[in-house]
Amino acid sequence: MSEFIDALIRRMTLAEKVGQLNYLSPSGEDTTGAGAAAANIEDRIRRGEIGSMPGGADIAQLVQWQKVAVEESAQKIPLIFTLDVIHGHRTIFPLPLGLACTWDPDLVRRTARVAATEAAAAGIALAWAPMLDVSRDARWGRCAESPGEDPVLGAAFGVAMIEGYQEGDLARHDTVMATAKHFAGYGFADGGRDYNTADISPFRMHNVVLPPFKAAIDAGVGAVMVGFHDLAGIPCTAHRELLHDLLRDRWRFTGLIVSDYTAILELVNHGVAADLKEAAYLAFAAGVDIDMMSRAFFLHLPELVAEGRIEESDIDAACRRVLRAKQQLGLFDDPYRRMDEKRRQAVTLTSNNRRLAREAAAKSCVLLKNNGALPLARGGVVALVGPLTDSRANMQGTWAVAAQPQDSVTVLEGMRNAAGNLAQILHAKGANITDDSNIAARLNVFGETAAIDTRSPDDMIEEAVGVAERADVVVACVGEAKEHSGESSTRTDIGLPGTQQRLLDALRKTGKPLVLVTMSGRPLALGWEDRHADAILHAWFGGSEAGNAIAALLFGDVNPSGKLSMSFPRMPGQCPIHYAEPPTGRPIGKIGIDVPGDQETDSSGRRVFRKFTTACRLEGAHTPLYPFGHGIGYSAFEYGALELDKTVLHGDDDEFHATIPVHNTGPVAGEEIVQLYIGDPVASRSRPVRELKGFRKVLLACGENRQVTFKITAADLRFFRSDRISAAEHVWEPGTFLIEIGPNSQLLKTAAVEWKATK
Ligand code: BGC
Repeated sequence: MSEFIDALIRRMTLAEKVGQLNYLSPSGEDTTGAGAAAANIEDRIRRGEIGSMPGGADIAQLVQWQKVAVEESAQKIPLIFTLDVIHGHRTIFPLPLGLACTWDPDLVRRTARVAATEAAAAGIALAWAPMLDVSRDARWGRCAESPGEDPVLGAAFGVAMIEGYQEGDLARHDTVMATAKHFAGYGFADGGRDYNTADISPFRMHNVVLPPFKAAIDAGVGAVMVGFHDLAGIPCTAHRELLHDLLRDRWRFTGLIVSDYTAILELVNHGVAADLKEAAYLAFAAGVDIDMMSRAFFLHLPELVAEGRIEESDIDAACRRVLRAKQQLGLFDDPYRRMDEKRRQAVTLTSNNRRLAREAAAKSCVLLKNNGALPLARGGVVALVGPLTDSRANMQGTWAVAAQPQDSVTVLEGMRNAAGNLAQILHAKGANITDDSNIAARLNVFGETAAIDTRSPDDMIEEAVGVAERADVVVACVGEAKEHSGESSTRTDIGLPGTQQRLLDALRKTGKPLVLVTMSGRPLALGWEDRHADAILHAWFGGSEAGNAIAALLFGDVNPSGKLSMSFPRMPGQCPIHYAEPPTGRPIGKIGIDVPGDQETDSSGRRVFRKFTTACRLEGAHTPLYPFGHGIGYSAFEYGALELDKTVLHGDDDEFHATIPVHNTGPVAGEEIVQLYIGDPVASRSRPVRELKGFRKVLLACGENRQVTFKITAADLRFFRSDRISAAEHVWEPGTFLIEIGPNSQLLKTAAVEWKATK
């Protein structure tokens, strides 16, 4: 088949080859201006000027554009239609950050399979997902789209998504090509401000940022999308060392490298290119194949070839990759294979898809705290209050581009479904998501999600308090609007908006048990809520079936099992905070600092210095409120003694097993996510105090005691020693290693092994 492509390339003009590298939106809709000339899309397709385009339109329209491409253009090359299929297509699953809290790659894979089936039937051949940016700053709105703070969990999530989308055979009518994005380090934007610079050392790049991408490449991902940001002064779109030297040469990635939306044009704004032509040169020379929306390649690559600055053979190579993707997707055999209205209707939002959405939503929720207020009794009166109780538009979360709000179930509906005639549900909105009309206007850009009530905040609180007083328990659904997170949605204060805090304070004063269901696309700072609420269930944005899933958890029909994929700070000022920090020279609680204390004189009146440990002063500032991996349920899991079958090991091929008994002493069966961490206390580089190396989800019956065993090999000890992005040694260094197992990244049982170089 490569002969077919070679022959095709030989027949193509330079302009036609460049056309294959051009991605253009039919609407000409473009924030920065370059796409304004994208009208007359059919003429452009006919002239072979476009290789791929967004596929958000209805099937009849896609068929029409495809028809022009394969019947009326000179080379008859089919188009690829793409879409952001981030967490479902029409059936919406929880936000990726929530989906990662399931710690269940098989479940994640099944959600991606459904998403691919629905999207493919609607004509989509290439999905702009999964997003694999390790995210450690909760202020950054795009952590919602990411698998969270950990590279190992992120890699497992990414591989599962890719398997679900591509399923080993891209030519099938129900698969889509996946895209690993945003290469690389976009999650480390300074201050969490979207698009901002990220100055990341090669050491952090290799050990933290790149592993999910490498795993995606090894899993056969078809495309990689480049980040908008710059890395130490070089925008990724122009970063030859990153794209060419590392991704192409070292990792041998043969798939598509795609720019982000207008990112080539933005090289001018970044200040590394004087004009669009220079931007085209830099991006192409760095390794970008497809120019999304800038028209820089289309307008300038032929000229750059004529000037001898770019080799036509390099254009051929990029064009060949695009054509090969089309071939892998089966588009040369049947360009319409993914456009099938009957199939679309048959596979979309089926009851099986909804069932999976409900399972995923329930498993993504994390019970952060419970002093016994949950599960709710079926029998009393429940006051269901808060702006997210009856908010259909918010349930699906950000980046659900094909979703229809009417397809989602609200918490109010879910609670009524679940309560039947047994519990009485009273309802009041209680507060707006925000009272600030400017913020509301921003949140409402993709449809109204933060309506400001005509009643005053005080009137709304009064109504809610009245409802609470008639109830046995108060359940308050509070949090963000869906567009508080997502692209360009940075927040500096990641607590609940003030108007909702006032509502909670008023509810607390009723003295009724107070249960919070919190929703957001990022970790929130919930210090006050942790002190005052009786239970907190964090529900992210759970998708089409969120309301039913939340109700099932609240009533105890389903036992909460999710565990955090990202740490929750106590206060916004702690961001970024994550569990895998390297040790400092002054570990908390270990080293004291002499400072004048409160009692500055001793009994004889002499001035004294009291030893303040950094622990006393700073522990609150240094530890999260809820750590990575935290999550409880209605079972109680006790961890016994950690046992190792060897404590002295030798060389690369040695291995041992770490076993821990986990006992469900609670009243109900439940799933526990058992986590394995390894610490490398002495190495040539200061290594994180611990790093996640494995996890196991086990279902334990009531009273069951199970041994959970992890096999550990020398591969688990390796880290990257690197001073360059394009090169790194993957090594382990003999010495002592700490093996830690437990229910989250803080509550761990520890044992040590000695791993020597050779026998
Ligand atoms: C985002 C990408 C997305 C692209 C196309 C950009 O603004 O950064 O993640 O895939 O738009 O919609």
